[in-house]
Amino acid sequence: MSSTPFLQLRQVRKEFGSFTALQDIDLDIGKGEFVCFLGPSGCGKTTLLRIIAGLEVQTRGHISQGGRDVSLLPPALRDYGIVFQSYALFPNLSVADNVAYGLVNRNTPRAHVKQRVSELVKLVGLPGSEGKYPGQLSGGQQQRIALARALATSPGLLLLDEPLSALDALERVRLRQEIRALQQSLGVTTIMVTHDQEEALSVADRIVVMNQGAIEQVGTPMEIYREPASPFVADFVGKVNVLPARLEQGELHVGGMRLPFEGVSRDVRLYLRPEDVLARPIAAGDAHVFDARIDKIEFLGSYCHVHVNAPALNAHDLVVYLSLNFLSEQSLQVGSSLPLKLLPERMKVF
Ligand code: ATP
Repeated sequence: MSSTPFLQLRQVRKEFGSFTALQDIDLDIGKGEFVCFLGPSGCGKTTLLRIIAGLEVQTRGHISQGGRDVSLLPPALRDYGIVFQSYALFPNLSVADNVAYGLVNRNTPRAHVKQRVSELVKLVGLPGSEGKYPGQLSGGQQQRIALARALATSPGLLLLDEPLSALDALERVRLRQEIRALQQSLGVTTIMVTHDQEEALSVADRIVVMNQGAIEQVGTPMEIYREPASPFVADFVGKVNVLPARLEQGELHVGGMRLPFEGVSRDVRLYLRPEDVLARPIAAGDAHVFDARIDKIEFLGSYCHVHVNAPALNAHDLVVYLSLNFLSEQSLQVGSSLPLKLLPERMKVF
């Protein structure tokens, strides 16, 4: 991020009556960054986006964008384009008139509007669609047009409020890749609200994980996934096994196993990603190996979620990921026993 953040939120708080929807949010976003607000329903991510847009007024706190204090500016005087979850195109206007909307409002000369609209519909992969009406377009196409409309005035900031959640799974993945590629080619600073962790992990430069009106963690997708700052983040982002354990004099006791781990003696919970429990390669004499028995195999295509029972760890439903090839090579099925290995350097303890 450059030294002066493009967007700065300072102590932004929002109360609805006696309910505090946002608790004193501080956040810096750099120019050209793609940031996702990620969190469960009701955590305040949409409210925060709407405050940045001026569609909602914060109870207190400040927002600056591009070095300008926009805290109290009405939406029309701010510099952003926005796309909502539901398509929100004007149904009685053609694609061209929808996309041109912001330009016409700014008294852009007609010839220029026409040229810009044609550029924009090309940009979002729908060249020649100017004469169509929203009702003639699929959900994904409508969102592409909504994106074109949001980008028409070349805003400094692009705000996306769950733009993909009404689309089917395939279209969602396709459009999120297109949005990311477009964002990178234009270099436009972008904030996307989502409750879908995979979406956030796959497109964001940084993720802001929110919970109950507060920020739990801000980091790159890899940091959020590999170095979760709290049990909430570890649980919310990605799959994780949670095992009761105890720290005792530089060791972690989990079931009958002892693993090297620094920390003050106390009862803890061990957070272990399924991919950090390995079924191979296990060599004779390897440390941290334990026996497990397969209880259930969830077939997901090229790989499987395998639920095992591991008395050594006192774990009754430990999930590991095994490839279909590995399962068939080793003739593994429900009831088979298999040795597994922990990676102590990947373990998180809270
Ligand atoms: P979702 O994904 O379900 O939209 P969210 O994280 O975007 O969730 P918000 O829509 O920001 O959550 O809402 C945060 C909290 O503030 C919720 O508990 C919601 O009920 C409350 N809230 C939002 N808008 C209002 C309002 N206008 N009046 C009262 N409470 C509100």
